[in-house]
Amino acid sequence: MKTIGLIGGMSWESTRSYYENINRLVNQKLGGFHSAKIVMVSVDFAEIEALQQSGDWQTAGQLLANCAKQLEAAGAEVFLICTNTMHLVAEQVEAAVSIPMLHIADVTGEYLQQLSHKKSGLLGTRFTMEQDFYKQRIQDKFSIAMLIPDNEDRQSVHDIIYQELVQGEINSDSREVYLAIIDKLAAQGAQSVVLGCTEIGLLVKQTDTELPLLDTAALHCQAAVDYALSSKSK
Ligand code: GLU
Repeated sequence: MKTIGLIGGMSWESTRSYYENINRLVNQKLGGFHSAKIVMVSVDFAEIEALQQSGDWQTAGQLLANCAKQLEAAGAEVFLICTNTMHLVAEQVEAAVSIPMLHIADVTGEYLQQLSHKKSGLLGTRFTMEQDFYKQRIQDKFSIAMLIPDNEDRQSVHDIIYQELVQGEINSDSREVYLAIIDKLAAQGAQSVVLGCTEIGLLVKQTDTELPLLDTAALHCQAAVDYALSSKSK
């Protein structure tokens, strides 16, 4: 079994789901007393959030690149950045180490491809919904169109993430806001909706809607376990 490295803390509310999920998946596969081999570097999210606000992605990328180096030095053989948004600096982080990184948008694109979906909705932070690093990557690599909510709905989705979900607050009113936006994306032809923020799965569950939801945190964990338990190298 390979050792999985996690760059976590963005936010820790979702990183703890990564830790739990990865261990559960390894145990389901191997049984007995088996659990995952994991090393983690968890950042102070306040530092990251301030760099996001000021648009200083270079410094944020350097900070995460240093985390990746720590993981490599600690024996990680593959690593994950446990947030969709910070994949904005994925190239800078990947370039700092020689171990492979599993890109969350690739994992998501591969799953959409398995479902044969051609058009999917995307919910996440404004950075993830509006910039090209995520939706354009899925479009280019997998030929899947990503629909995003209108400006006002993007603001609501973004505000609920930063003002509630990353702080561990789960509100049923906010769930209704998300479900209404998911319905609008479905009405525009989305065959599924990508929960492109690792905390959204804490708020909205598949049982809340008939439209297929792709929980990117869960898919990312599954991909890490598949890789860690396989003999492949990237
Ligand atoms: N965890 C979130 C994501 O997946 C947002 C927090 C962050 O800005 O990293 O995008």
